[in-house]
Amino acid sequence: MASDRTYGPMTELVIRGRDPAEQFGFVNPPIVRGSTVVWETMADYASAKGRYSYGRRGTPTSDALCDALAALEGGAHVALATSGLNACALALLAALGAGDHLLMTDGVYEPTRRLCDGLLKKLGVETTYYDPALGAHVADLMRPNTKAVYVESPSSLTFEIQDVPAIAGAAHARGAAVIMDNTWATPLYFKAHDHGVDLAVSAGTKYLGGHADVLIGWVSATGAYAPALKAAHGALGLCVGPDDMFLALRGLRTLGVRLAHHQASALRVARWLELRPEVAKVRHPALESDPGHALWKRDFSGASGLFALELKPAPKDAVAALLDGLELFGLGYSWGGFESLAIPYDASGVRTATNWTPRGPTLRLHIGLEDVEDLIGDLEAGLERYVAAS
Ligand SMILES: *Cc1c(COP(=O)(O)O)cnc(C)c1O
Repeated sequence: MASDRTYGPMTELVIRGRDPAEQFGFVNPPIVRGSTVVWETMADYASAKGRYSYGRRGTPTSDALCDALAALEGGAHVALATSGLNACALALLAALGAGDHLLMTDGVYEPTRRLCDGLLKKLGVETTYYDPALGAHVADLMRPNTKAVYVESPSSLTFEIQDVPAIAGAAHARGAAVIMDNTWATPLYFKAHDHGVDLAVSAGTKYLGGHADVLIGWVSATGAYAPALKAAHGALGLCVGPDDMFLALRGLRTLGVRLAHHQASALRVARWLELRPEVAKVRHPALESDPGHALWKRDFSGASGLFALELKPAPKDAVAALLDGLELFGLGYSWGGFESLAIPYDASGVRTATNWTPRGPTLRLHIGLEDVEDLIGDLEAGLERYVAAS
């Protein structure tokens, strides 16, 4: 259905990866369950006639999702993974091998850090963590065997924005790949390949799924890195269940409207929190007060619903009083769904290249699709409990 003509991003989300004329007129592509593909004749078998040969290597359902994601990313090839973390691992394994050196942002999602310090180390890849604020100066940390520089912007939990084009310039000057975890902005709000990223990773579990009911990930590669991505994906035998792919494709259709709502509500809550006396700092790159704001404004076309705040110092019990009484915010990790979430965190034990020293207890909020005034009311009552228990 979708021709080579390009449309606006919201239109692309609606039209890609489906063709009613090929689907008996139905709007959505069918969920194809299949391992075996059979041929009619020995000649057809010998020439592997047709598009499909084995369920693991692709089905009409995986093609539909990959085609739609590839249109959104603007890269050359998309490979699906069974979770976001699985996609991080896939990109790293595509780019690196024994004897190679990896430069990794100190603000990386913690399970990815454990992957580098564990399995990748065991496979002979050495990792050096760098300050996410370094920009082009990552060049000073590069070695002759540095094969990849990994960025995550904003940082998990701490929300620093990285200068991705400057880092990419330094990496490419020495022949290293740039890998990015682009989960926070999604390719709708940050065009990773346009900013020099070779392998763009996303946890589709978050905003693509959007309903807290699916685990999925994907990696998008430029033409230069597509062969390595395909090889790693095939060797690992990665394939995603057909129902999960269908849920991801369904989420894609409404990604634009959901993100716009998350963005507007989160910014409204962030601005409200900035003015509260109980709050020391709000970490949200779309706020003018944020240190990453200028870079965010230059490179991103939007912000999602996830940000953090530092409270003025108070005992642990006060934080519990705030969180335990919230009616609309759940205490849970996997954000990006329709519901609001709040978790307390302390990133100080996670960092190795930089120091993380918040002034008081820190919370991460995900602002969902509820009425924003209801969310503010819930948080206001929480802050009042915080003061009362301090
Ligand atoms: C959640 C998340 C992941 C991992 O996604 P899963 O699907 O839970 O494995 C990776 N990176 C970032 C930035 C995330 O927020």
